[in-house]
Amino acid sequence: MIKENLKKIKICIEKSAEKSGLPHKKIRIIAVTKEASSARILEALDEGLTELGENRVGHALLRQRAIDGRATWHMIGHLQTNKARDAVSVFFLIHSVDSVKLAEAINKEAARAGKVQDALLEVNVSGEGTKYGVSAGDVKDFLQSVKGLANIRISGLMTVAPLTDNPENSRKYFKTLKALADREGLRELSMGMSQDYGVAVEEGATMIRLGRAIFGSTN
Ligand SMILES: *Cc1c(COP(=O)(O)O)cnc(C)c1O
Repeated sequence: MIKENLKKIKICIEKSAEKSGLPHKKIRIIAVTKEASSARILEALDEGLTELGENRVGHALLRQRAIDGRATWHMIGHLQTNKARDAVSVFFLIHSVDSVKLAEAINKEAARAGKVQDALLEVNVSGEGTKYGVSAGDVKDFLQSVKGLANIRISGLMTVAPLTDNPENSRKYFKTLKALADREGLRELSMGMSQDYGVAVEEGATMIRLGRAIFGSTN
């Protein structure tokens, strides 16, 4: 099933990328594992997926051991500062930096580990009260505040659009995120989920985060 799902996803990416002008091969699929079983995760790896997303540090730590270095891990959920050390130890990219305090905690732990942690700034473009992320108006200040941190590198922006069954509803949020990234000279754009990844790619996503579209709705 994953094989068929991926085939559909790739066709959609290819078609949508024509509109964004990005080479479709440059658009990275982050396979969001959440409730997926180890067997399904291994199946995804066998289909050539190499980047996995988790919203919990503990899950990623356990699964990293289980898959033994066959993929890189992406943190896509809210991260508490007291989990920064574990996060730095397991994640290749942290998509969900949403405060200066968290950026500082990551920076400190990355320095201790002797690495530079790649990360994205999460922006709450829609302004929904239930969502994490800095507001669009605070992006510039945030970037200014973290500029001096030598062990965290913010290479782009991430957003989660509101839940919808019409992907077109997400377009305006993705356009805003792209405009913010362009203004700040940031290259990476993590946007688009199963509900709206085609629109996200059209609007310039460089990474899409897919759970249900790959693993099915029950995982
Ligand atoms: C769960 C999750 C996804 C994937 O959602 P699907 O609808 O299953 O594609 C993407 N991004 C974040 C932040 C998530 O929490």
